Amino acid sequence: MLIQIHNTLSGQKEGFKPLEENKVGIYSCGPTVYDTAHIGNLRTYVSNDLIRRIFEYNGYFVKHVMNITDIDDKTIQKSQEKKISLEELTRHYETLFIADLHSLNILTPNRVLRATDHIKEMIEMISILLEKGIAYQTKDGIYFSIGLFKDYGKLAKLKIDATDTTTLKERISNDEYEKENPRDFALWKFYSESDGEVFYEAPFGKGRPGWHIECSAMSTWALGPTIDIHTGGTDLIFPHHTNEIAQSESATEEHFVNYWVHCAFMNVNDDKMAKSKGNFLKLSDIEDAGISPLAFRYWLMTSHYRSQVNFTIEAVKGAQTAFIRLIEAFVRFGEVTNEHVHSSSRNYKEEFLKKINDDFNMPEALALTWELIKDHSVEAKEKIALMLDFDKVFGFGLKAVMDMKEEIPQEIRALAEIREEARKNKEWEKSDALRIEIESRGFEIKDTDESFQISKKNFS
Ligand code: AMP
Ligand code: ZN
Repeated sequence: MLIQIHNTLSGQKEGFKPLEENKVGIYSCGPTVYDTAHIGNLRTYVSNDLIRRIFEYNGYFVKHVMNITDIDDKTIQKSQEKKISLEELTRHYETLFIADLHSLNILTPNRVLRATDHIKEMIEMISILLEKGIAYQTKDGIYFSIGLFKDYGKLAKLKIDATDTTTLKERISNDEYEKENPRDFALWKFYSESDGEVFYEAPFGKGRPGWHIECSAMSTWALGPTIDIHTGGTDLIFPHHTNEIAQSESATEEHFVNYWVHCAFMNVNDDKMAKSKGNFLKLSDIEDAGISPLAFRYWLMTSHYRSQVNFTIEAVKGAQTAFIRLIEAFVRFGEVTNEHVHSSSRNYKEEFLKKINDDFNMPEALALTWELIKDHSVEAKEKIALMLDFDKVFGFGLKAVMDMKEEIPQEIRALAEIREEARKNKEWEKSDALRIEIESRGFEIKDTDESFQISKKNFS
Protein backbone atom coordinates (compact mmCIF):
# COMPACT_ATOMS: atom_id res chain seq x y z
CA MET A 1 0.00 0.00 0.00
CA LEU A 2 1.33 3.42 -0.98
CA ILE A 3 2.40 5.63 1.92
CA GLN A 4 1.06 9.18 1.64
CA ILE A 5 3.34 11.87 3.08
CA HIS A 6 2.70 15.57 3.46
CA ASN A 7 5.75 17.18 1.86
CA THR A 8 6.59 20.67 3.19
CA LEU A 9 8.18 21.49 -0.17
CA SER A 10 4.98 21.05 -2.19
CA GLY A 11 2.62 21.75 0.71
CA GLN A 12 0.69 18.63 -0.31
CA LYS A 13 0.29 14.96 0.43
CA GLU A 14 2.25 12.86 -2.05
CA GLY A 15 2.48 9.11 -2.63
CA PHE A 16 5.92 7.99 -1.42
CA LYS A 17 8.29 6.70 -4.07
CA PRO A 18 11.63 5.47 -2.71
CA LEU A 19 14.92 6.11 -4.44
CA GLU A 20 15.63 2.39 -4.24
CA GLU A 21 12.90 -0.21 -4.13
CA ASN A 22 11.94 -1.32 -0.60
CA LYS A 23 14.53 0.95 1.00
CA VAL A 24 14.19 4.29 2.66
CA GLY A 25 16.82 6.69 3.96
CA ILE A 26 15.65 9.08 6.68
CA TYR A 27 17.76 11.91 8.05
CA SER A 28 16.55 13.55 11.26
CA CYS A 29 18.08 16.68 12.70
CA GLY A 30 19.18 15.68 16.18
CA PRO A 31 19.77 17.60 19.39
CA THR A 32 22.22 20.35 20.13
CA VAL A 33 23.74 18.86 23.26
CA TYR A 34 24.22 21.90 25.49
CA ASP A 35 21.26 21.11 27.76
CA THR A 36 18.74 18.35 28.49
CA ALA A 37 16.09 17.91 25.79
CA HIS A 38 12.70 19.44 26.63
CA ILE A 39 9.36 17.74 26.06
CA GLY A 40 8.82 19.77 22.86
CA ASN A 41 12.02 18.37 21.37
CA LEU A 42 10.88 14.91 22.46
CA ARG A 43 7.62 15.35 20.55
CA THR A 44 9.63 15.72 17.35
CA TYR A 45 11.78 12.67 18.15
CA VAL A 46 8.74 10.51 18.93
CA SER A 47 7.18 11.56 15.63
CA ASN A 48 10.43 10.66 13.80
CA ASP A 49 10.41 7.28 15.53
CA LEU A 50 6.82 6.63 14.44
CA ILE A 51 7.71 7.42 10.83
CA ARG A 52 10.63 5.00 10.98
CA ARG A 53 8.47 2.28 12.57
CA ILE A 54 5.70 2.81 9.99
CA PHE A 55 8.14 2.26 7.15
CA GLU A 56 9.47 -0.87 8.85
CA TYR A 57 5.89 -2.08 9.40
CA ASN A 58 5.37 -1.67 5.65
CA GLY A 59 8.34 -3.95 5.03
CA TYR A 60 10.87 -1.29 4.10
CA PHE A 61 14.52 -1.62 4.96
CA VAL A 62 15.06 1.64 6.83
CA LYS A 63 18.29 3.51 7.32
CA HIS A 64 17.57 6.15 9.93
CA VAL A 65 20.35 8.66 10.52
CA MET A 66 20.45 11.32 13.21
CA ASN A 67 23.11 13.86 14.03
CA ILE A 68 24.29 15.13 17.37
CA THR A 69 25.30 18.79 17.19
CA ASP A 70 28.22 18.76 19.61
CA ILE A 71 29.89 21.91 18.31
CA ASP A 72 28.19 25.26 17.75
CA ASP A 73 27.87 28.69 19.40
CA LYS A 74 25.65 27.40 22.23
CA THR A 75 27.72 24.34 23.19
CA ILE A 76 30.97 26.33 23.20
CA GLN A 77 29.47 29.09 25.30
CA LYS A 78 28.02 26.70 27.87
CA SER A 79 31.26 24.71 28.22
CA GLN A 80 33.08 27.95 28.93
CA GLU A 81 30.52 29.05 31.51
CA LYS A 82 30.85 25.67 33.23
CA LYS A 83 34.65 25.73 32.85
CA ILE A 84 34.72 22.22 31.37
CA SER A 85 35.85 20.97 27.97
CA LEU A 86 33.41 20.96 25.06
CA GLU A 87 33.71 17.17 24.93
CA GLU A 88 32.89 16.71 28.61
CA LEU A 89 29.83 18.93 28.30
CA THR A 90 28.45 17.44 25.11
CA ARG A 91 29.02 13.78 26.07
CA HIS A 92 27.11 14.40 29.29
CA TYR A 93 24.03 15.76 27.50
CA GLU A 94 24.33 13.18 24.75
CA THR A 95 24.06 10.41 27.36
CA LEU A 96 21.01 12.04 28.91
CA PHE A 97 19.45 12.36 25.46
CA ILE A 98 19.97 8.66 24.66
CA ALA A 99 18.46 7.79 28.06
CA ASP A 100 15.35 9.85 27.17
CA LEU A 101 15.07 7.97 23.87
CA HIS A 102 15.12 4.66 25.77
CA SER A 103 12.53 5.83 28.31
CA LEU A 104 10.19 6.78 25.47
CA ASN A 105 10.79 3.51 23.61
CA ILE A 106 12.24 5.44 20.67
CA LEU A 107 14.33 3.07 18.57
CA THR A 108 17.93 4.28 18.41
CA PRO A 109 18.57 5.54 14.87
CA ASN A 110 20.74 3.16 12.85
CA ARG A 111 23.46 5.78 12.81
CA VAL A 112 23.93 8.54 15.34
CA LEU A 113 26.60 10.90 14.01
CA ARG A 114 28.52 13.43 16.06
CA ALA A 115 29.35 16.61 14.19
CA THR A 116 32.89 16.61 15.60
CA ASP A 117 33.54 13.24 13.90
CA HIS A 118 32.74 14.72 10.47
CA ILE A 119 34.67 17.98 10.31
CA LYS A 120 36.65 16.59 7.36
CA GLU A 121 33.47 16.18 5.25
CA MET A 122 32.37 19.71 6.20
CA ILE A 123 35.71 21.18 5.14
CA GLU A 124 35.45 19.29 1.83
CA MET A 125 31.97 20.66 1.12
CA ILE A 126 33.00 24.21 1.98
CA SER A 127 36.06 23.87 -0.30
CA ILE A 128 33.79 22.86 -3.20
CA LEU A 129 31.52 25.86 -2.54
CA LEU A 130 34.57 28.16 -2.50
CA GLU A 131 35.87 26.69 -5.74
CA LYS A 132 32.51 27.27 -7.38
CA GLY A 133 32.48 30.88 -6.19
CA ILE A 134 29.20 30.39 -4.28
CA ALA A 135 31.05 30.85 -1.00
CA TYR A 136 33.35 33.74 -0.22
CA GLN A 137 35.81 34.68 2.47
CA THR A 138 35.60 37.65 4.84
CA LYS A 139 37.78 38.52 7.79
CA ASP A 140 35.67 36.50 10.22
CA GLY A 141 34.80 33.45 8.14
CA ILE A 142 33.51 31.80 4.98
CA TYR A 143 30.00 32.78 3.91
CA PHE A 144 27.42 31.33 1.55
CA SER A 145 26.14 33.78 -1.04
CA ILE A 146 22.37 33.23 -1.06
CA GLY A 147 21.91 35.50 -4.11
CA LEU A 148 23.86 32.94 -6.18
CA PHE A 149 21.55 30.05 -5.41
CA LYS A 150 18.52 29.96 -7.65
CA ASP A 151 15.36 29.18 -5.67
CA TYR A 152 16.86 30.15 -2.33
CA GLY A 153 14.06 29.98 0.22
CA LYS A 154 11.69 27.71 -1.74
CA LEU A 155 11.08 25.44 1.25
CA ALA A 156 10.13 28.34 3.53
CA LYS A 157 8.22 30.05 0.68
CA LEU A 158 10.40 33.15 0.99
CA LYS A 159 10.02 35.89 -1.55
CA ILE A 160 13.49 37.10 -2.36
CA ASP A 161 14.22 39.89 -4.77
CA ALA A 162 17.40 38.77 -6.55
CA THR A 163 18.00 42.32 -7.78
CA ASP A 164 18.00 43.73 -4.25
CA THR A 165 21.75 43.88 -3.86
CA THR A 166 21.74 45.68 -0.51
CA THR A 167 19.87 42.93 1.35
CA LEU A 168 21.67 40.19 -0.49
CA LYS A 169 25.05 41.56 0.57
CA GLU A 170 24.19 41.45 4.27
CA ARG A 171 25.73 38.71 6.32
CA ILE A 172 24.99 36.92 9.56
CA SER A 173 27.47 34.95 11.62
CA ASN A 174 24.88 33.67 14.11
CA ASP A 175 23.36 30.33 13.13
CA GLU A 176 19.83 31.34 14.05
CA TYR A 177 18.02 34.34 12.61
CA GLU A 178 14.60 35.46 11.50
CA LYS A 179 12.80 34.58 8.29
CA GLU A 180 12.04 38.26 7.72
CA ASN A 181 15.71 38.90 7.25
CA PRO A 182 17.41 36.26 5.10
CA ARG A 183 21.11 36.90 4.74
CA ASP A 184 24.38 35.30 3.67
CA PHE A 185 25.21 32.83 6.42
CA ALA A 186 28.43 31.45 7.89
CA LEU A 187 29.76 28.11 6.65
CA TRP A 188 32.97 28.39 8.66
CA LYS A 189 33.75 30.73 11.53
CA PHE A 190 37.38 31.77 11.86
CA TYR A 191 38.97 31.24 15.24
CA SER A 192 38.49 33.99 17.76
CA GLU A 193 39.76 34.02 21.33
CA SER A 194 36.24 33.46 22.63
CA ASP A 195 36.41 29.95 21.12
CA GLY A 196 39.12 28.98 23.66
CA GLU A 197 40.42 25.50 22.88
CA VAL A 198 37.88 24.75 20.18
CA PHE A 199 39.23 24.93 16.63
CA TYR A 200 40.12 22.85 13.58
CA GLU A 201 42.72 23.49 10.88
CA ALA A 202 41.31 23.96 7.38
CA PRO A 203 42.96 25.01 4.08
CA PHE A 204 40.99 28.27 4.23
CA GLY A 205 41.93 29.01 7.87
CA LYS A 206 41.69 27.74 11.43
CA GLY A 207 38.16 27.79 12.88
CA ARG A 208 34.97 25.76 13.24
CA PRO A 209 31.92 24.93 11.14
CA GLY A 210 28.60 26.78 11.15
CA TRP A 211 25.59 24.72 12.23
CA HIS A 212 23.92 24.42 8.81
CA ILE A 213 26.88 22.86 7.00
CA GLU A 214 27.04 20.12 9.64
CA CYS A 215 23.79 18.48 8.48
CA SER A 216 24.52 18.93 4.76
CA ALA A 217 27.90 17.22 5.11
CA MET A 218 26.77 14.44 7.43
CA SER A 219 23.61 13.55 5.50
CA THR A 220 25.59 13.34 2.24
CA TRP A 221 28.21 11.19 3.94
CA ALA A 222 25.66 8.79 5.39
CA LEU A 223 22.92 8.71 2.75
CA GLY A 224 24.37 10.16 -0.46
CA PRO A 225 23.59 13.43 -2.29
CA THR A 226 19.86 12.74 -2.60
CA ILE A 227 17.89 11.41 0.33
CA ASP A 228 14.34 10.13 0.60
CA ILE A 229 13.13 11.85 3.75
CA HIS A 230 14.45 14.65 5.93
CA THR A 231 12.73 15.47 9.22
CA GLY A 232 12.80 18.09 11.96
CA GLY A 233 10.53 20.48 13.82
CA THR A 234 8.82 23.34 11.96
CA ASP A 235 11.26 25.88 13.42
CA LEU A 236 14.00 24.31 11.30
CA ILE A 237 12.33 25.12 7.97
CA PHE A 238 14.06 28.49 8.12
CA PRO A 239 16.94 29.06 8.22
CA HIS A 240 18.39 25.59 8.92
CA HIS A 241 16.73 23.44 6.24
CA THR A 242 16.57 26.29 3.76
CA ASN A 243 20.35 26.65 4.11
CA GLU A 244 20.93 22.89 3.96
CA ILE A 245 19.19 22.80 0.56
CA ALA A 246 21.26 25.73 -0.72
CA GLN A 247 24.58 24.24 0.42
CA SER A 248 23.93 20.66 -0.64
CA GLU A 249 22.38 21.39 -4.04
CA SER A 250 25.12 23.91 -4.85
CA ALA A 251 27.87 21.49 -3.85
CA THR A 252 26.53 18.25 -5.34
CA GLU A 253 24.37 19.66 -8.17
CA GLU A 254 21.81 17.00 -7.28
CA HIS A 255 18.30 17.33 -5.87
CA PHE A 256 18.83 17.15 -2.08
CA VAL A 257 15.65 15.80 -0.43
CA ASN A 258 12.54 14.17 -1.92
CA TYR A 259 10.18 14.52 1.08
CA TRP A 260 10.48 17.11 3.83
CA VAL A 261 8.52 16.18 6.95
CA HIS A 262 8.12 18.71 9.75
CA CYS A 263 6.60 18.14 13.17
CA ALA A 264 4.51 20.99 14.59
CA PHE A 265 5.35 22.66 17.87
CA MET A 266 4.34 21.84 21.39
CA ASN A 267 3.34 24.70 23.64
CA VAL A 268 3.00 24.47 27.38
CA ASN A 269 -0.12 25.90 29.01
CA ASP A 270 -0.76 27.78 25.75
CA ASP A 271 2.61 29.47 25.84
CA LYS A 272 5.90 28.96 24.00
CA MET A 273 8.34 26.94 26.07
CA ALA A 274 11.16 29.09 27.39
CA LYS A 275 13.50 28.95 30.35
CA SER A 276 12.67 32.54 31.22
CA LYS A 277 8.97 31.65 31.51
CA GLY A 278 9.62 28.77 33.88
CA ASN A 279 7.66 26.36 31.66
CA PHE A 280 10.68 24.59 30.21
CA LEU A 281 9.83 20.98 31.04
CA LYS A 282 12.04 17.93 30.79
CA LEU A 283 10.99 14.30 30.81
CA SER A 284 12.13 13.99 34.44
CA ASP A 285 9.91 16.95 35.42
CA ILE A 286 6.80 15.30 34.09
CA GLU A 287 7.82 11.98 35.66
CA ASP A 288 8.05 13.83 38.99
CA ALA A 289 4.49 15.00 38.36
CA GLY A 290 3.38 11.35 38.14
CA ILE A 291 3.39 10.84 34.36
CA SER A 292 5.11 7.79 32.93
CA PRO A 293 7.18 8.33 29.75
CA LEU A 294 5.11 5.78 27.86
CA ALA A 295 1.87 7.53 28.86
CA PHE A 296 3.43 10.72 27.49
CA ARG A 297 4.19 8.82 24.28
CA TYR A 298 0.55 7.70 24.16
CA TRP A 299 -0.64 11.29 24.69
CA LEU A 300 1.60 12.50 21.83
CA MET A 301 -0.11 10.02 19.52
CA THR A 302 -3.52 11.43 20.28
CA SER A 303 -2.65 14.44 18.07
CA HIS A 304 -1.53 14.45 14.47
CA TYR A 305 2.15 15.40 14.08
CA ARG A 306 1.22 18.39 11.88
CA SER A 307 -1.07 19.94 14.52
CA GLN A 308 0.29 22.10 17.27
CA VAL A 309 -0.31 20.62 20.71
CA ASN A 310 -0.76 22.22 24.06
CA PHE A 311 0.80 20.40 27.00
CA THR A 312 -1.03 20.52 30.31
CA ILE A 313 -0.48 18.08 33.16
CA GLU A 314 -4.26 17.46 33.29
CA ALA A 315 -4.44 16.53 29.59
CA VAL A 316 -1.55 14.09 29.87
CA LYS A 317 -2.93 12.59 33.08
CA GLY A 318 -6.21 11.99 31.21
CA ALA A 319 -4.25 10.22 28.48
CA GLN A 320 -2.39 8.22 31.14
CA THR A 321 -5.72 6.87 32.45
CA ALA A 322 -6.63 5.77 28.91
CA PHE A 323 -3.17 4.26 28.43
CA ILE A 324 -3.48 2.21 31.63
CA ARG A 325 -6.91 0.99 30.46
CA LEU A 326 -5.38 -0.11 27.18
CA ILE A 327 -2.68 -2.11 28.97
CA GLU A 328 -5.27 -3.59 31.35
CA ALA A 329 -7.48 -4.62 28.44
CA PHE A 330 -4.48 -6.30 26.81
CA VAL A 331 -3.68 -8.20 30.00
CA ARG A 332 -7.34 -9.19 30.44
CA PHE A 333 -7.55 -10.63 26.93
CA GLY A 334 -4.63 -12.87 27.88
CA GLU A 335 -6.62 -14.34 30.75
CA VAL A 336 -9.71 -15.23 28.73
CA THR A 337 -10.36 -18.93 28.24
CA ASN A 338 -13.37 -20.63 26.61
CA GLU A 339 -15.09 -17.90 24.69
CA HIS A 340 -17.75 -18.12 22.05
CA VAL A 341 -17.78 -15.26 19.56
CA HIS A 342 -18.97 -14.73 16.04
CA SER A 343 -16.15 -13.88 13.75
CA SER A 344 -15.71 -10.22 12.91
CA SER A 345 -16.41 -8.90 9.45
CA ARG A 346 -13.77 -6.18 9.82
CA ASN A 347 -10.20 -6.43 8.62
CA TYR A 348 -8.50 -4.47 11.39
CA LYS A 349 -5.01 -4.97 10.05
CA GLU A 350 -5.90 -3.45 6.71
CA GLU A 351 -7.74 -0.57 8.39
CA PHE A 352 -4.70 0.06 10.59
CA LEU A 353 -2.40 0.13 7.59
CA LYS A 354 -4.68 2.63 5.86
CA LYS A 355 -4.58 4.97 8.86
CA ILE A 356 -0.83 4.89 9.42
CA ASN A 357 -0.10 5.17 5.70
CA ASP A 358 -2.28 8.24 5.44
CA ASP A 359 0.40 10.73 6.47
CA PHE A 360 1.14 8.79 9.67
CA ASN A 361 -2.29 9.33 11.22
CA MET A 362 -1.65 8.06 14.73
CA PRO A 363 -4.77 9.52 16.40
CA GLU A 364 -6.92 7.49 14.02
CA ALA A 365 -4.75 4.40 14.45
CA LEU A 366 -5.26 4.69 18.23
CA ALA A 367 -9.02 5.23 17.84
CA LEU A 368 -9.14 2.09 15.68
CA THR A 369 -7.36 0.13 18.41
CA TRP A 370 -10.05 1.19 20.88
CA GLU A 371 -12.72 0.01 18.44
CA LEU A 372 -10.91 -3.32 18.30
CA ILE A 373 -10.72 -3.55 22.10
CA LYS A 374 -14.46 -2.96 22.40
CA ASP A 375 -15.47 -5.19 19.48
CA HIS A 376 -17.26 -8.24 20.96
CA SER A 377 -17.16 -10.05 17.67
CA VAL A 378 -13.35 -10.44 17.80
CA GLU A 379 -11.83 -13.25 19.87
CA ALA A 380 -9.53 -12.25 22.73
CA LYS A 381 -6.71 -14.28 21.17
CA GLU A 382 -7.11 -12.38 17.92
CA LYS A 383 -7.19 -9.05 19.77
CA ILE A 384 -3.90 -9.90 21.46
CA ALA A 385 -2.31 -10.82 18.14
CA LEU A 386 -3.51 -7.59 16.52
CA MET A 387 -2.51 -5.38 19.45
CA LEU A 388 0.97 -6.91 19.50
CA ASP A 389 1.19 -6.34 15.75
CA PHE A 390 0.06 -2.68 15.99
CA ASP A 391 2.49 -2.19 18.84
CA LYS A 392 5.39 -2.56 16.40
CA VAL A 393 4.34 0.98 15.45
CA PHE A 394 2.93 2.31 18.74
CA GLY A 395 5.95 1.20 20.77
CA PHE A 396 4.10 0.73 24.07
CA GLY A 397 6.14 -2.34 24.94
CA LEU A 398 3.15 -4.75 24.97
CA LYS A 399 5.46 -7.66 24.24
CA ALA A 400 7.30 -6.94 27.49
CA VAL A 401 3.97 -6.83 29.35
CA MET A 402 3.16 -10.27 27.95
CA ASP A 403 6.60 -11.72 28.78
CA MET A 404 6.30 -10.39 32.32
CA LYS A 405 2.97 -12.10 32.77
CA GLU A 406 4.27 -15.34 31.37
CA GLU A 407 7.01 -15.37 33.95
CA ILE A 408 4.43 -15.88 36.72
CA PRO A 409 3.58 -19.61 36.91
CA GLN A 410 -0.05 -20.67 36.96
CA GLU A 411 0.18 -22.17 40.48
CA ILE A 412 1.43 -18.85 41.91
CA ARG A 413 -1.42 -17.00 40.22
CA ALA A 414 -3.87 -19.54 41.67
CA LEU A 415 -2.46 -18.98 45.18
CA ALA A 416 -2.77 -15.23 44.68
CA GLU A 417 -6.41 -15.60 43.63
CA ILE A 418 -7.21 -17.66 46.76
CA ARG A 419 -5.44 -15.02 48.87
CA GLU A 420 -7.44 -12.26 47.19
CA GLU A 421 -10.65 -14.11 48.03
CA ALA A 422 -9.51 -14.45 51.66
CA ARG A 423 -8.67 -10.77 51.81
CA LYS A 424 -12.09 -9.82 50.49
CA ASN A 425 -13.64 -12.01 53.20
CA LYS A 426 -11.41 -10.35 55.80
CA GLU A 427 -9.77 -13.71 56.62
CA TRP A 428 -6.53 -12.01 57.51
CA GLU A 429 -4.69 -15.01 58.95
CA LYS A 430 -5.32 -17.05 55.84
CA SER A 431 -4.36 -14.21 53.51
CA ASP A 432 -1.12 -13.54 55.46
CA ALA A 433 -0.19 -17.21 55.36
CA LEU A 434 -0.74 -17.27 51.62
CA ARG A 435 1.37 -14.14 51.16
CA ILE A 436 4.25 -15.83 53.03
CA GLU A 437 3.79 -18.93 50.88
CA ILE A 438 3.92 -16.86 47.67
CA GLU A 439 6.99 -14.95 48.87
CA SER A 440 8.79 -18.13 49.86
CA ARG A 441 8.44 -19.25 46.24
CA GLY A 442 10.25 -16.12 45.00
CA PHE A 443 7.34 -13.82 44.14
CA GLU A 444 6.04 -10.59 45.54
CA ILE A 445 2.45 -9.55 45.84
CA LYS A 446 1.27 -5.96 46.00
CA ASP A 447 -2.32 -5.02 46.78
CA THR A 448 -3.86 -2.35 44.58
CA ASP A 449 -7.17 -0.50 45.02
CA GLU A 450 -9.23 -3.05 43.19
CA SER A 451 -7.03 -6.07 42.82
CA PHE A 452 -3.36 -7.13 43.20
CA GLN A 453 -0.13 -7.40 41.24
CA ILE A 454 2.39 -10.22 41.35
CA SER A 455 5.99 -9.83 40.31
CA LYS A 456 9.21 -11.79 40.59
CA LYS A 457 11.13 -10.96 43.76
CA ASN A 458 14.15 -8.81 43.20
CA PHE A 459 17.06 -10.43 45.05
CA SER A 460 19.67 -7.81 44.13
P1 AMP B 1 17.31 21.66 19.01
O1 AMP B 1 18.02 20.81 20.01
O2 AMP B 1 16.90 23.00 19.53
O3 AMP B 1 18.07 21.75 17.70
O4 AMP B 1 15.93 20.94 18.67
C1 AMP B 1 15.82 19.58 18.44
C2 AMP B 1 14.55 19.25 17.66
O5 AMP B 1 13.38 19.62 18.42
C3 AMP B 1 14.44 20.00 16.34
O6 AMP B 1 13.93 19.11 15.36
C4 AMP B 1 13.45 21.11 16.64
O7 AMP B 1 12.78 21.52 15.48
C5 AMP B 1 12.52 20.43 17.61
N1 AMP B 1 11.78 21.33 18.52
C6 AMP B 1 12.27 22.39 19.23
N2 AMP B 1 11.33 22.96 20.00
C7 AMP B 1 10.18 22.24 19.80
C8 AMP B 1 8.83 22.32 20.30
N3 AMP B 1 8.47 23.23 21.21
N4 AMP B 1 7.93 21.42 19.84
C9 AMP B 1 8.28 20.47 18.94
N5 AMP B 1 9.52 20.33 18.44
C10 AMP B 1 10.47 21.19 18.85
ZN1 ZN C 1 20.10 19.65 10.97
